[in-house]
Amino acid sequence: MNSLLPGDSSRLLIGGSLVAGGNGVFDNVNPATEEVIGTAADADAADMNAAIAAARTAFDETGWSRDHAFRVRCLEQLQAALKAHAEELREITIAEVGAPIMFTSGPQLEGPIEDLSFAARLAADYEWETELGVAAPMGISTHRVIRREAVGVVGAITPWNFPHQINFAKLGPALAAGNTIVLKPAPDTPWCAAALGSIITEETDIPPGVVNIVTSSDHGLGAQLSGDPRVDLISFTGSTGTGRAVMSSAASNLKKTFLELGGKSAFIVLDDADLATAVSYAGFSLCVHAGQGCALTTRLLVPRGRYDEAVEAVAATMSGIRPGDPTSPGTVCGPVISDRQRSRVLGYIDSARADGGRIVTGGGRPAEHERGFFVEPTVIADLDNSAKAAQEEIFGPVLVVLPYDGDDDAVRIANDSPYGLSGAVWGKDPERIRRITDGVRTGTLGVNGGMWYSADAPFGGYKQSGIGREMGAAGFEEYLETKLVATAQ
Ligand code: NAD
Repeated sequence: MNSLLPGDSSRLLIGGSLVAGGNGVFDNVNPATEEVIGTAADADAADMNAAIAAARTAFDETGWSRDHAFRVRCLEQLQAALKAHAEELREITIAEVGAPIMFTSGPQLEGPIEDLSFAARLAADYEWETELGVAAPMGISTHRVIRREAVGVVGAITPWNFPHQINFAKLGPALAAGNTIVLKPAPDTPWCAAALGSIITEETDIPPGVVNIVTSSDHGLGAQLSGDPRVDLISFTGSTGTGRAVMSSAASNLKKTFLELGGKSAFIVLDDADLATAVSYAGFSLCVHAGQGCALTTRLLVPRGRYDEAVEAVAATMSGIRPGDPTSPGTVCGPVISDRQRSRVLGYIDSARADGGRIVTGGGRPAEHERGFFVEPTVIADLDNSAKAAQEEIFGPVLVVLPYDGDDDAVRIANDSPYGLSGAVWGKDPERIRRITDGVRTGTLGVNGGMWYSADAPFGGYKQSGIGREMGAAGFEEYLETKLVATAQ
């Protein structure tokens, strides 16, 4: 197989063949240097149409969905091939995502490759049929069995911030469950997906049409995929606004819709916590990958009596983390993905200023970088939770620090958000922590630094942060239908 580093050779994967895009190519830009590092195949509507047709045919006309053992073998092959190409994938991930190299041994690359075995194991051990036994509902003696079956053709639409993690978190369980798939990655990170396409075609027995990968500069292809009646399920990760559009076009044929969306999660420091440790954890974690994580805690809630102390401490942590070259082993905070994203983040900081917020540290582009889409880690104080920068997802290294009066008030502020994705609580008293974790309406919560992210743990949102769960057994079952077969005795 050729080098995975595509340069100008990235291709779409449609019906088992690696093909050029109908619209030619589009530039792939390194966010840390602003240099064009090559091009990606630019699919058009006809390519998307062909990819959906291929996935439909592979589902309807092959034994893929019924051969559980074969699928497990294919997933294991895929995992082994990805591991063998880890170094090339790492290079791609750093160059096109701007992901600091230190996170490629974890959530940006090697973690998600490792997690593929969870999907394979689930498929191997899954109870595909459950006996309900004989009963006589409505007086008719009947033997009942519940079968679990693949949903059909999955349309997977993914964002740019953790492309491997999100691509694999959809592909793994979708394939393990017996579906076929059309993956449409974000235009900002086409090579991560294109490399996956090359590996699948050239190094696995995954049959033609089972996986189709359509890179494009045109977001409209996502809309096309969501609206197409041949697609049975849309698995979408991205912003809440786009999720709303996806749900609305998926409604055209009432397809199953699974949404992982945005967040504005709260980090609550209780008054019995070690404040210095808690806030430095909060500040550090928000700088990871320049704050481009949907579940990062972007609102720090501290007791009013210790507000000034907390603001100063978290600003000290965040001002000490300088955005830098993602290829350097010590870098925690790389660039944001694009010029557009940087302008968006800086626009939120301006809105905070206009709403009376105080920029305690950061607030702009770091002087030491002439090039690259870098943003300084930024702490905003003295803002009300109703302000735009405290309500909306910024997706950059920007923290809003808010005071609260008592535990109930902390829960109230945490929940005063359209989102409900994640959160954190730091404190000592287990009963108070229990009340807080009961009260906060989010899909995941970390207590005293506990990590909720893992292949076997369901991840997803309440409220406008999403519908359904990714990963864990719940994530696998999103890709299954339930059939009850009742045979008269
Ligand atoms: P986005 O919503 O702009 O785009 C996501 C994907 O949707 C891309 O592939 C894009 O091409 C496609 N798309 C755009 N318009 C579409 C349409 N009308 N119909 C169908 N598809 C369309 O998101 P982004 O900027 O790429 O990523 C950042 C967002 O993703 C943030 O809001 C972040 O919170 C969210 N995110 C959520 C999770 C989660 O698990 N909850 C994880 C990572 C990122």
